[in-house]
Amino acid sequence: MTSPWFAMQSQRNNPARGIRWTTIQETDSVATEAQLVTASVPVDVDRYWFGVLAMDFSVSEMKAFLMSAVEGEKEGEYQLYDSRMNLIATSAGANDYPLRLTIREEAQLANDFGYDNRGGLRLVTSYISWEKLRNFDGVLLRIHRLHEGVRGDFGTITIALALVWMLFTIMQLIAWWVIRRMVANMAGLQESLQWRAWYDALTRLYNRGALFERALDAVQECRMKQQPVSVIQIDLDHFKRINDEYGHQAGDRVLSHAASLISSKIRDTDIAGRVGGEEFCVVLPGASRETALEIAERIRHRINVREILVGKGTTMRISASLGVSSSDENGQYDFELLQSVADSRLYLAKQGGRNRVCATDTGSF
Ligand code: GH3
Ligand code: MG
Ligand code: MG
Repeated sequence: MTSPWFAMQSQRNNPARGIRWTTIQETDSVATEAQLVTASVPVDVDRYWFGVLAMDFSVSEMKAFLMSAVEGEKEGEYQLYDSRMNLIATSAGANDYPLRLTIREEAQLANDFGYDNRGGLRLVTSYISWEKLRNFDGVLLRIHRLHEGVRGDFGTITIALALVWMLFTIMQLIAWWVIRRMVANMAGLQESLQWRAWYDALTRLYNRGALFERALDAVQECRMKQQPVSVIQIDLDHFKRINDEYGHQAGDRVLSHAASLISSKIRDTDIAGRVGGEEFCVVLPGASRETALEIAERIRHRINVREILVGKGTTMRISASLGVSSSDENGQYDFELLQSVADSRLYLAKQGGRNRVCATDTGSF
């Protein structure tokens, strides 16, 4: 009557009146082979507790039973625990090292036992499935270790699935990389096409179409703000001779050089473009006729002041003729008209001897 298996069968300790299994474990280790496990059941008559019927099993018998129950099941280790999570028996052979749960894992398992009759717990290198047994108040664990998982049919399928998944991921990465490159190329192409649509490749100034588009907007804005707007037409003098004497490449060099000189003499808000072979047009929003004249004169001077390298060791001085028109002459805000006036004055400058600026219809300043 002093045995724990007896005391635990009182009506208070075992209200459900079911079978209880008890072990007496001295240490934290697996129960020794000689140790006993006691199954006990209360004997009640008319709700009166008469006594306890108990039967001892040795741990070695339990182990033999466990081994015979799992015969043929080569995978995993079975462990039988009592209700207080004392390990009663394990199917691990004498040479195997039985897996011991950590206190945290035990606590988690004990918590799960309260809710279900079976369940699973994933650990870092193993997977534990557990099941409560009928007429046994402990629990049976089946422990799969990772290295066992990759053996057998299940392992083969797992490896095959993992490979397929890896292949799929790699293909996705490659596809992502290819698409990224394509998008980057397309973005670059679009940028370059956009640039070509607006700019002249040789001089890097606006091309004729872009200049007209920008100029029309700028002139409209000046009209709304009641600001003057001026236009300068520029044509290089005797340019054909440069081509004839030094070749087309030298001509191209002179063109891009002249364009950069023009750009250097105007503000960011001014609009400069190449409107013909060696003809340029500059629109100066907000500039009066006098200001435009000054700027035109600066451009003419800058183009003429330095010798340009045209061939091997050959330099020459070039010049340009310029025509200027402005809206403040007669309040005219029509870009095409302003440009044609500037153009006709440019030809007056040519007639007047070239390398000069003309801002009136009489050919004088
Ligand atoms: P003017 O003083 O009367 O303006 O004489 P010019 O020789 O400059 O005038 P013309 O219009 O007779 O000649 C323009 C030349 O510009 C003809 C053409 O070969 C050349 N040209 C046009 N576009 C280009 C180009 O992109 N590159 C080169 N190198 N030459 C060009
Ligand atoms: Mg010319
Ligand atoms: Mg010309």
